[in-house]
Amino acid sequence: MKHFDSFELDALIMKGIREMGFEEPSPIQAECIPAVLRGEDVIGQAQTGTGKTAAFGIPLLEHVDPGSRKVKAVVLAPTRELAIQVSEELRKIGRAKRVKTLPIYGGQPIGRQIKALKQGVQVVIGTPGRMLDHLRRGTLRLDDVEMLVLDEADEMLDMGFIDDIEAVMDHLPENRQLLLFSATIPPAIRQLARKYMNKPRYITVSRGEVTAPVIEQVYYKVLESTKLDSLCRILDSESLEQGILFCRTKKGVDELAESLQARGYLAAGLHGDLAQQQRDRVMNSFRRGDIELLVATDVAARGIDVGTVSHVINYDIPQDAESYVHRIGRTGRAGRTGIALTLVTPREMKQLRSIEHEIAGELKPRELPSLEEVAERQQQLLKEQLVETIQSGELIPIFEELVQNLTEKHDANQIAAAALHMAFADRFTGGTDAVYDFGETGASPGMVRFFINVGRNADIRPRELVKAIAEQAGIAAKKVGRINIYDRFSFVEVPEEAAPFVFEALRQSKINGARVNLEPARPRNRS
Ligand code: AMP
Repeated sequence: MKHFDSFELDALIMKGIREMGFEEPSPIQAECIPAVLRGEDVIGQAQTGTGKTAAFGIPLLEHVDPGSRKVKAVVLAPTRELAIQVSEELRKIGRAKRVKTLPIYGGQPIGRQIKALKQGVQVVIGTPGRMLDHLRRGTLRLDDVEMLVLDEADEMLDMGFIDDIEAVMDHLPENRQLLLFSATIPPAIRQLARKYMNKPRYITVSRGEVTAPVIEQVYYKVLESTKLDSLCRILDSESLEQGILFCRTKKGVDELAESLQARGYLAAGLHGDLAQQQRDRVMNSFRRGDIELLVATDVAARGIDVGTVSHVINYDIPQDAESYVHRIGRTGRAGRTGIALTLVTPREMKQLRSIEHEIAGELKPRELPSLEEVAERQQQLLKEQLVETIQSGELIPIFEELVQNLTEKHDANQIAAAALHMAFADRFTGGTDAVYDFGETGASPGMVRFFINVGRNADIRPRELVKAIAEQAGIAAKKVGRINIYDRFSFVEVPEEAAPFVFEALRQSKINGARVNLEPARPRNRS
């Protein structure tokens, strides 16, 4: 087993990794990090969920000098969403080292980006079009870049970014290191590698088929922003004896165990930062049945054999099929029946499909309890907390004074509602992730309208479109709304809560053998 220690990284990068709560390198990281540190060009075949961002991010940040005012590394990504996500991850890992990162993408005012660039950043993460725009304006200089990463390269090529990518490449010095990450390696990628890479090392995490135990396997589609509530609804609707919940990171374990405890579940966390004694204590309580839910990292859960585990819940999707098989093997022991539930966010749909492919099996989709039900439960919870606080008699005097003051001019009901709004608005808003802001698409209320770049010319009919959406995004066919098919393009409406899944599943895909591109519609396209 590899440890992050074995890479001999800068203490500040190690601090960043610790703060992320990573326990051990994921399979792609174990191979990729040392190769990149040695200066090799790398082709990594991996998708979201495998830890690919940190696989290139850690050695990239290790390499960058935070004192420099010049751009030292560039990451190209196909979409705004991915650019933001990668940028966030790099910012967090590089925070202790004070590396400055900046996402630049279309749709954001260019003036703001120019200002941010002028302040001196060392890592730029952007979509090819906007990056090129800055290069042409002279607001971005890449003469000192030592490393270029092409993230989700297959998608960038599918989206027709090849010319833009090559144009960006022309602005880089000759001797830069090039890393390429891609879920698939079609001929166009190989060609790109031949043209621009220097003896690339090929790294993949897929090890062919692994065998999953025969137990019921189910997945739920969830959004990052409401994941905890979704989990609680699931927990409340399952007849659960004992469950093991898996999180990716130690930090994730702590946070989830605490949140569950706060909501009244008998939960405890288990990970490698706990002293042996603490670990023994947690395991003993779990064995005795005093703890209902054990929240654990992969490492901590290795070797756990408790016969009464009725449920394994992948709160975070595993990083590879092997880990999936290990995890779900913790249930259904000693001849009992067990069930494995996996929570999947929009961006992780592909990782789910890849796991299914490697275990040569399918996870059954199951519908989450509705958002209204979740909201109702949250309201109930908040009510209970408020009553408890009132009854505790422990209010800070300043607050009471403040309210008294305000009641001279305002209604007490409104003051209370405003205070709640300030404290909890984010718990109740929408239910769509902040990264998925599709803007005004001209759809019916509660729906999002998407534009698809093929129509009758590709023999697309409504039935096929509905089938493709239902299958690829894992949503019920009857949920698909209005469809308009024209000669060369189409529109389809889907419910807001399903929109991120439809977008991620179909923005680059195939229907009827035709390559399709799906994007949020603009209202002026309205028929
Ligand atoms: P990615 O595949 O890069 O999209 O990463 C998926 C998720 O895994 C992100 O939330 C990362 O922060 C997380 N992650 C990356 N590396 C590790 C690791 N070694 N241990 C645990 N979580 C990780």
